Amino acid sequence: MIPTKCWVSSFMNWCMPLMIAKAVTGRPSKKIATTIGLTGKMIHAHPNDELGKLVKLIIAEIGPYPHKKLIPKTRISIKRQRPYAECSECGYRVPMLKKFLDVGPPICPKDSIMMMPEGKWD
Ligand SMILES: [Zn+2]
Repeated sequence: MIPTKCWVSSFMNWCMPLMIAKAVTGRPSKKIATTIGLTGKMIHAHPNDELGKLVKLIIAEIGPYPHKKLIPKTRISIKRQRPYAECSECGYRVPMLKKFLDVGPPICPKDSIMMMPEGKWD
């Protein structure tokens, strides 16, 4: 049996490029994820058979987590009705910066008409 330290080191070497890609780009790289053994859509990536077997070996060797179960904090999404402008002819839509709301809605680049203010403009 390979010592636990080697398993953890090997696993971390696999995960490190993924964590770096996420830190740099804000999301994991699919190429790196599939290289280390993850499969499926990146938002729901899960280990392929080979990585799954490795993880099971690691878990069997290091044993159960020595503390109470970790419960991830749930994200609270705050939906704001952001101001935007929409063209009544073609539907072209542009998010607006609060800084420029007092200037008014922009002109549609396609139809050359003033776009309609939508969302929370005040
Ligand atoms: Zn338009």
